[in-house]
Amino acid sequence: MPAVRVEDTLVLPRIETPDPTLLVPRPVLGRSSAPQGMEGEGFPVRRAFAGIATEYLDPFIHMDQMGEVHYGPGEPKGTSWHPHRGFETVTYMIDGTFQHQDSIGGGGVIKDGATQWMTAGSGILHIERPPEALVISGGLFHGFQLWVNLPSTKKMISPRYQDIEASQVTLLTSPDGGTLFRLIAGSLDGHDGPGITQTPITMVHATLSPGASATIPWNPTYNALVYGISGDGAVGVDDVELTTGHLAVLGEGDTITLRANERQDERHEAFDVLLLGGEPIGEPVAAYGPFVMNTRDELRQAFEDFQAGKLGTIPTDHI
Ligand code: MN
Repeated sequence: MPAVRVEDTLVLPRIETPDPTLLVPRPVLGRSSAPQGMEGEGFPVRRAFAGIATEYLDPFIHMDQMGEVHYGPGEPKGTSWHPHRGFETVTYMIDGTFQHQDSIGGGGVIKDGATQWMTAGSGILHIERPPEALVISGGLFHGFQLWVNLPSTKKMISPRYQDIEASQVTLLTSPDGGTLFRLIAGSLDGHDGPGITQTPITMVHATLSPGASATIPWNPTYNALVYGISGDGAVGVDDVELTTGHLAVLGEGDTITLRANERQDERHEAFDVLLLGGEPIGEPVAAYGPFVMNTRDELRQAFEDFQAGKLGTIPTDHI
């Protein structure tokens, strides 16, 4: 797993364990297991939020774990050109490379711990796929695509995109150095991540060494979701078991507790989780295909605008 690695975590800033007599640990309200499906022209994904009520996800809409999959030569697949409106897509690549191009002149490569933050806003067209050389050679692909909702006041803002290189991610550790926290966006214990978000959220990829545990502060006004990327462990004050494809929805409180099993399987030397939280928007959600709006009328308008070419045009030098 070549997402950012650190040889000696003890040189990193530490997140102090919050005082348990003053703060309320968040309980686990429920745990789901993500069904597997196919995305775009055929890459395997886990639908991380399937079956979870919107009120628990708000401000998040959707998340796919892409892979982890080892492609043979000629097998890697991507998407065709498609539109978005009304939210942000966040693509985090743990292993492998994705190439991106959009209708506002953005484009680039996302790989090995990098994140691309695309604010669709009023409308954008884009394509996401592996580069030609990797299609020929095949290889390992593993990443996430998260959809973050925008409030009604921001749904029609101008589209933009940010490339967040792996080297820009804020790295933190637990008091004993047993856990590595990669803060991609938002803040954690007074530290800030590089991602500029329209909706206040925190996004962290944590790696716990076998047997490690950590309790971290979590903004009490945010929701809290913990997704099992790989390896085995547990989450919450109730120590609910978590593994690949599991999503834990946490209830109200001030802190999140994580624990890695002493024994991990041969393929994974640690317990990896994605921690997500954000300020709930609290508005109606009308979502269909690539559009996330507040009402059905706005969805209809999005389709009409797309058909009329108002969401952008495919660049002439397209990949
Ligand atoms: Mn897309």
